[in-house]
Amino acid sequence: MGAVPELLGGPGGGQARSAPVLGDRPEPTVFELSSPGRRAWSFRETGVPEWDPEELVPAGHLAPEPPALPEVSERDLVAHVTRLTARNYSVDLGAYPLGSCTMKYNPKVCDVTSALPALARCHPAQPAEQVQGWLGLMAALEDVLCRVTGMAAATLQPAAGAQGELTGLLLMRAWHAARGRPRRRVLIPDSAHGTNPASVTLAGFEVVEVPTDRRGLVDLEALRGLVDEDVAGLMLTNPNTLGLFETDIVEIASLVHGAGGLLYYDGANLNAILGVVRPGDMGFDIVHLNLHKTFAVPHGGGGPGSGPVAVAERLVPFLPGPRPVEGPDGFRWEVPERSIGRIHSWHGNALALVRAYTYLLLTGGDGLRRVADGAVLNARYLRERLRDVLDVPYDEPCMHEFVASAAALRREAGVRALDLAKRFIEEGFHPPTMYFPLIVDEALMIEPTETESPQTVEAMAEALTRVVAEARADGSAAASAPRTTPVGRVDEVQAAKRLRLRWEP
Ligand SMILES: *Cc1c(COP(=O)(O)O)cnc(C)c1O
Repeated sequence: MGAVPELLGGPGGGQARSAPVLGDRPEPTVFELSSPGRRAWSFRETGVPEWDPEELVPAGHLAPEPPALPEVSERDLVAHVTRLTARNYSVDLGAYPLGSCTMKYNPKVCDVTSALPALARCHPAQPAEQVQGWLGLMAALEDVLCRVTGMAAATLQPAAGAQGELTGLLLMRAWHAARGRPRRRVLIPDSAHGTNPASVTLAGFEVVEVPTDRRGLVDLEALRGLVDEDVAGLMLTNPNTLGLFETDIVEIASLVHGAGGLLYYDGANLNAILGVVRPGDMGFDIVHLNLHKTFAVPHGGGGPGSGPVAVAERLVPFLPGPRPVEGPDGFRWEVPERSIGRIHSWHGNALALVRAYTYLLLTGGDGLRRVADGAVLNARYLRERLRDVLDVPYDEPCMHEFVASAAALRREAGVRALDLAKRFIEEGFHPPTMYFPLIVDEALMIEPTETESPQTVEAMAEALTRVVAEARADGSAAASAPRTTPVGRVDEVQAAKRLRLRWEP
């Protein structure tokens, strides 16, 4: 809760909202609305006898006191949540150019399919005979993801990108171990997403950083010097986090494979290459995908996500299980021969899978190709529009996103990337990603996504141009932004370290 206030408020979609919905009255917490004995629902007498919890639950497992839950009426609860929603910014409200996060608009039909009782009301422990449709859906989704990535088989268990990374690295470890040659080191470019080194460490490997060259791409010479017989593999994001396509990928792959290592593809944001090129064609052995970024699963507020992992033929026997497999009598669950085991208690965030499958069917093969074209076109257009406004440090054409730098502006006017981002909120947009990747000073990482119209992308360009021009003329306005939102600047360190869950006037 502590870090949330910076996201609260903000008018939507480039159209400044004239007045806050409920004036400036602060919203109380749900605990402050609580009144002893008040209930959202009550049930009629059922005739079913009430059990004493002490008779049902073994001694020692029962909390000494019931939890202190808020006691509110349904009416107060709905009003409270609706008021909070009206103060928040979301993909349904307007553009959300948060680089590396792919905050695109998610079609509503995915809400309909994922709420179908036949899917939503199943229990994951039901016998396979009773849930054939579910197993069929999962097998079909695995198949589509393999076609999109050029891989042989997939697991749908990982519940997030980071968990997909861990799964992929455990597969890498199991594969080397099975060959009797365990290896210790994993190479990662210095532009990588922070979860990459974290996953490598969690999987028991050592991180070795590969530098980025002047093009913004993997430094091939440096890579040559780092690849040896102790390297388990290389983790790569392509397009990388600068939004640039690693054009030396074939050579990179042959270097790593030549030394007996594996190639891991961080496919969290796959929108730039859908239907254009597949990680499998580039030489990758393991791929994770973020269904919650690329394939229409909403992920504001932290989930539920889904990070399937697809692998090349030689890694299939090691996949987590059980997996849905089709036989003469229909689908059954099967654990692969040399499986690394479960990495989720059940079958992943199942309803997120339904959303992604719906989106894939709706979009179709040629539609996916248009997704890629739109994502790249929007990003390139915005980058060209901002070339004279902010520094764009690398010259290669960008893919679905690009990174600009406010370093010069900071030197000249004392205005930081953070200030520009906060001021951008007042223009009616969600801010871009800031201070990532770490190799760009005062970074603003911008991904318009393919779901924004040319008019919206142009409005974003104009808004950023205004914000930067204003900052050059007078840095003070940006320093205190946002002023038109329910919550202005927050002390982010205090917000993270000292949670204050109660509103105090
Ligand atoms: C978002 C992202 C991840 C991590 O995904 P989570 O679902 O947040 O764990 C990994 N790599 C890249 C490039 C990402 O953008």
